[in-house]
Amino acid sequence: MLVYCCRCVMPHTKPDLHLDEEGICNACRSYEKRAAVDWVQRGKELERILERYRHPNGENWDCIVPVSGGKDSTYQVVRMLQMGLNPLCVTSTTCDLSAIGRQNIENIKRLGVDYVEMSPNPRVRAKLNRIGLTEVGDISWPEHVGIFTIPVRAAVQFNVPLIVWGENSQNEYGGPAAASENNALNRRWLEEFGGLLGLRVSDLPGQEGITTRDLINYTYPSDEELARVGVTGLFLGHYIPWDGLSNALIATSNGFTSFSCAVEGSLVNYENLDNHQTGIHDYFKFLKFGFGRATDLACLHIRRGRLTRQGGLDAVRRLDGQFPWTYLGKPLAEILARLELSVDEFISICDSFTNRRIFERNADGCLLKDAHGNLTKINYDN
Ligand SMILES: [Zn+2]
Repeated sequence: MLVYCCRCVMPHTKPDLHLDEEGICNACRSYEKRAAVDWVQRGKELERILERYRHPNGENWDCIVPVSGGKDSTYQVVRMLQMGLNPLCVTSTTCDLSAIGRQNIENIKRLGVDYVEMSPNPRVRAKLNRIGLTEVGDISWPEHVGIFTIPVRAAVQFNVPLIVWGENSQNEYGGPAAASENNALNRRWLEEFGGLLGLRVSDLPGQEGITTRDLINYTYPSDEELARVGVTGLFLGHYIPWDGLSNALIATSNGFTSFSCAVEGSLVNYENLDNHQTGIHDYFKFLKFGFGRATDLACLHIRRGRLTRQGGLDAVRRLDGQFPWTYLGKPLAEILARLELSVDEFISICDSFTNRRIFERNADGCLLKDAHGNLTKINYDN
């Protein structure tokens, strides 16, 4: 049985989620604490840190901004430009870039920034997608590694110490740049933030013919290189009250394009638009933990008072965890072709990662699926 937070709609199975004695989750509690934050003070702190890293004579960039082309990264670039910084924007190309994702990357360039894009070898990437999917149930594993390693490698290569990330998943912490001394990143810190699900890059050589030379983009610089440049980072979400919808509105007013309708399995049309594999990624979260992207979004909006808990529950029941037959309009069979997997093979991988205790089964214990292959959770509320 799933136990849900009494305030939002997140189940207890979400990694690192705790429900307290009142049945309220730590994400809701930490949102509650936001009311007490002095954002004016935090904004001044941000200005002080950026001032410290601003290149004195303009001969190098002031910071690295990792950008996907999404609403948050568009917003980050807009903010950095407003604050008078000269960022170098760095993209780690997604696994299966959509047309709308490409359009939004081009839009970021047009905001008036220097920009580099690292596109890792697609043959190696496809092998890593398959290994991630079959071994840890996460097709996006190489992408999650690359979005952390590639900007850090760029910081070393271009000799730009400050990396400006967007939201901090931990929600409490401004990042090492805020410390006045010893604020350089090291590999251990990076690996902790990367979240590799127990599959390490060093486990890969030897699998499917992968060798060390295939993995350059997925490897952090050495501690010596990081220290030489003094690479450090901050999370804008610590200094500016972070809200996806508000970021989307600002991004849109700066040329960002949303999808024509709600994204499959989601509640909204303004995020996760750049990778056709994201539908599979989100679906596996549903199979393992019983919640998908619609739940994530419902929780964000409930906490901000834009959706009632009941409204969230209704939307989640309708939209969450739909079998990913298409994503951003691309059919599943085409998405899988790149990984040399058939839909049938994919379905058996799905079944092997499904947490059978949270879904309805028949008398023989087999998972019950409707005509579209969709599962039903045993309970959608407490
Ligand atoms: Zn909650």
